[in-house]
Amino acid sequence: QANERESMYLVSEFANKYFQKILHKTDAGQAIGLSYFKERGFTNETIKKFQLGYCLDEWDAFTKEALAEGYKLDYLEKTGLSIVKGERQFDRFKGRVMFPIHSMSGRVLGFGGRILTSDKKAAKYLNSPESDIYHKSKVLYGISYAKQAIAKEDNCYLVEGYTDVIQFHQSGVENVVSSSGTALTNEQIRLISRLTKNITVLFDGDAAGIRASLRGIDLILEQGMNVKVCSFPEGEDPDSFARKNSEEELKEFLAENATDFISFKASLLMKDAKNDPVKKAALIRDMVSSIAKIPDTIQQEVYLQECSRIMDISEDVLFSTLAQLTKKGT
Ligand code: ATP
Ligand code: MN
Ligand code: MN
Ligand code: MN
Repeated sequence: QANERESMYLVSEFANKYFQKILHKTDAGQAIGLSYFKERGFTNETIKKFQLGYCLDEWDAFTKEALAEGYKLDYLEKTGLSIVKGERQFDRFKGRVMFPIHSMSGRVLGFGGRILTSDKKAAKYLNSPESDIYHKSKVLYGISYAKQAIAKEDNCYLVEGYTDVIQFHQSGVENVVSSSGTALTNEQIRLISRLTKNITVLFDGDAAGIRASLRGIDLILEQGMNVKVCSFPEGEDPDSFARKNSEEELKEFLAENATDFISFKASLLMKDAKNDPVKKAALIRDMVSSIAKIPDTIQQEVYLQECSRIMDISEDVLFSTLAQLTKKGT
């Protein structure tokens, strides 16, 4: 079993080197992949640092080369790099630009591949399948590049996508990781909590982004960590915002717009409830149930006071709601 995993790591590392070689050293790689990354504003240094690559738009170019180099088809299939159909084999990431995904210590676990055409039927991003070395729920994209900065800044920015992480690094903000399209998990939060107790959730300025982050926030609170939230202007994500602004402007934006989760959630939900008493009551329960997840009772009290102020509800009502929720064990 350990040997098998080692073989999977080795073939993944080979693939990582291969996709980079294709990107930098072949005509197709340069014309299609490299120019795509350049158009997105990534510098050569950034492209090399994040080990970005390209998988040729051919059926089995990668698989053939891996087999010729002596890698076993079994491991190519188990890592999902190749898809086996009867007697034939295909490259999973055909025609995509490649983002290797590393462990905390920097080993390649899997890949994300982005499509370059605007084909609406194909998925924009394709990821390696779950395997013995790649457990999606336990991985954070960018963690090996960010760990020192997270500890130093004592804060971790959490973004949605690969390109958000990369563009932030290029803009001088290195304490950033991404859950890469999956809902945030407890294991991912625990990875961060080894480095800092402070997370700032940054999400795309769209409704889906906001919903996803609200779910993540409760999980972070449950682990006794502090959460701030920062939303980007409508239609922007961290990547596009960082590209349009200077390093100073980005850092200033983050410093000024990161708000405490309680004020964020309260004002967001209040907009929705307006003067509807039924909705407002539901929202109060929603807020208190988030606060109930915080393990530290002193912190709970501070948040309840803030909540009372923002929503103009007496502290007594909030405390008794909290007491009810805690008794029920929610
Ligand atoms: P880009 O800027 O390249 O269009 P993005 O990172 O802004 O990408 P989003 O649509 O905001 O893309 O999605 C956030 C993340 O969710 C992506 O980085 C990717 O990890 C994941 N994701 C997006 N679309 C898909 C998909 N169709 N299948 C699987 N994962 C996806
Ligand atoms: Mn999005
Ligand atoms: Mn995005
Ligand atoms: Mn984007």
